[in-house]
Amino acid sequence: MPEAAQYRKVDLHTHSTRSDGRLSPTELVDLAVEQGVSLFALTDHDTLDGIPEARQRAEGHNLSYLNGVELSTQWQGIPLHMVALGFEDNNPELLSVVASNQATRLERGRRIADLLVKQGLPDLFDEALALAGDSQLGRPHFANLLIEKGLVKDANKAFDRYLGNKRLGQLRDVWPDLEDVLGTLAGQNMELILAHPKRYPLTVTKLKRLLGDFKKWGGTAIEVVSGNERPDHVRLLERLSLEFGLKASAGSDYHGPFGPWTQVGKFTQIHESEVNLVWSSCQ
Ligand code: AMP
Ligand code: MN
Ligand code: MN
Ligand code: MN
Repeated sequence: MPEAAQYRKVDLHTHSTRSDGRLSPTELVDLAVEQGVSLFALTDHDTLDGIPEARQRAEGHNLSYLNGVELSTQWQGIPLHMVALGFEDNNPELLSVVASNQATRLERGRRIADLLVKQGLPDLFDEALALAGDSQLGRPHFANLLIEKGLVKDANKAFDRYLGNKRLGQLRDVWPDLEDVLGTLAGQNMELILAHPKRYPLTVTKLKRLLGDFKKWGGTAIEVVSGNERPDHVRLLERLSLEFGLKASAGSDYHGPFGPWTQVGKFTQIHESEVNLVWSSCQ
């Protein structure tokens, strides 16, 4: 098995037009190669649709490629994202989680539109669905419509005022429990990674409780860095990964050349020799 050092640059968390990213899987892979990435995963929200195109493009470039997806879940009423990585094609359990989350996305989209109507906005559901096209409907589609219609200035305002978790009330709780998702997927040949742990409204004490549960239920790793993570947060997450016996993953969470996202393959430095990297066992 090759050494981890073989990979000069990895990016194990990215988005394409199949969810809420701006670039097609092909464009994204091309950009990753341009940026010097040598191990890559597309991890769209609740869909595997972009994988064949991304993998085919990666093969053309000789870029090492891992199957990935970012799954929406919740823990104690808090929406959480989990990245599944390195699974085989057509894993039936994973397909069932993805299909169920896709149905939830549609239903939730309808309810988000209703919530906005109650606040005096037009019914945006059909337009949001049309905008999403063959990609997974998400809050960013509603945010883009609000901007396009001049109802808010930018995405941050759209989330602050209408779409953020605090604004969604009951709609926060639509996702499957982390325990159930891990129960369905654990013990198979894939990494189950808690995405961007510092982006949730959790004290360190509560984060540790979450990591305890995550490990107990079969989670294998945490993202010790996501894009422009603060270096002190990276340190903390590295320490927690060791404390809880979880591996370390990393990614840009790139969505496109807009908003707060860093470039593909670009994220705050991690201390590779001090943690157990998910990609050290990849070939
Ligand atoms: P959803 O998957 O429908 O829950 O939407 C969540 C997505 O919205 C995240 O993956 C981000 O891409 C995006 N997002 C979350 N918060 C913000 C924000 N404040 N500004 C812009 N985009 C955001
Ligand atoms: Mn997103
Ligand atoms: Mn996420
Ligand atoms: Mn993401």
